[in-house]
Amino acid sequence: MVTFINGNGKDYNMICKLCLKEKPLIKAHIIPDFLYKNLGLYEADSKGQGRIHVARIQNNRFYYNPKGISDGEYDQNILCSNCDNVVLQAYEDYAKKVLFDGNYKLPEFQHEYIKDSSLGCEYGLFKNVDYTKFKLFLLSIFWRASISARVFSGEVKFGEKINEGIRKMLFDKDPKDPEDFCTILYFLNEPDITLKLMTNFKKIENNNSTRYAFIAGGMIFKFFLNKNDIPENHKPFIFSKSGELKIFNMPKDKIRLTLNDFFEEKLF
Ligand SMILES: [Zn+2]
Repeated sequence: MVTFINGNGKDYNMICKLCLKEKPLIKAHIIPDFLYKNLGLYEADSKGQGRIHVARIQNNRFYYNPKGISDGEYDQNILCSNCDNVVLQAYEDYAKKVLFDGNYKLPEFQHEYIKDSSLGCEYGLFKNVDYTKFKLFLLSIFWRASISARVFSGEVKFGEKINEGIRKMLFDKDPKDPEDFCTILYFLNEPDITLKLMTNFKKIENNNSTRYAFIAGGMIFKFFLNKNDIPENHKPFIFSKSGELKIFNMPKDKIRLTLNDFFEEKLF
C-alpha cells in the first residue's frame, strides 16, 4: 500500500473503494448533485459560490438552514476520478434523464400517470427504463453512504461484507434480482415543502422492518437491505427487470405524516 503525503503533511492511503486501486481520490458526492441542482436548490450566492439547502436533524430537531451549505455533501476519501466521473456518473446521467428529462432525451422511454383502483393508489409509470443502469444508480447512492465516514451518511452502515457485495455489483454491472437491495421511490407532491428539502440519511425501523431513507428531488428514497423487510403492499413498486419503474404518488394527507415520521417530530 502506498502512502501519500498531502499538502498538510498528513499521511493518507489512497485506495479507491470501488476499483480498489491506489489512486488519488477526488471529492465525490454522496447524493448525486442533479437531485438538487435540477430543482433550483442549488444557487450561486453573491460570490458565485454554489449553495444548497439541506434539512438536517440535530438533537432530534429538524433544522433548515435557509442560507444553504456550499457545494453539496461530498467525501474525498472514497472514490477515484474514473470511478466517480465515469463509472458512477454514467448511471447518474441516465437516471437524470429518466427522472427529469423524460422522452425528450430518451426516445424509447414512456411515461404515464396511473390511477390504480385495484391497488387503491396513484403512481407515475415509467416504461422501458434500463434495469441495470437505474437499479445500480439507486444502489450506488446507498453504497456511497455506507462506505462514507461523513456524518451526513451516519445512519447507513451496512458492514464490510455487504459493502463488498454491493461493490462487486456496481463494479461488475450486476444488478441482481429486483428484490435484492431494492430502492422504492415515493413522490412527495407538496412542492412548497419537499422541493426545498434534502435530508441526510436515516435508518427507519417500524413494525419489525428496517429501511434506509433520504429525501431529495421531491421524493423519498427507501432502501431495503433485507428483502424480508419489504412490506407486501410496497412490492408492486419494486423496479422490475422489464424496465417498469413505478413511483408511488403519496396522497397529500400522508405526506406530512411521512415527514413527521421521518424527522420523528411533529413539524407540520
Ligand atoms: Zn476507482
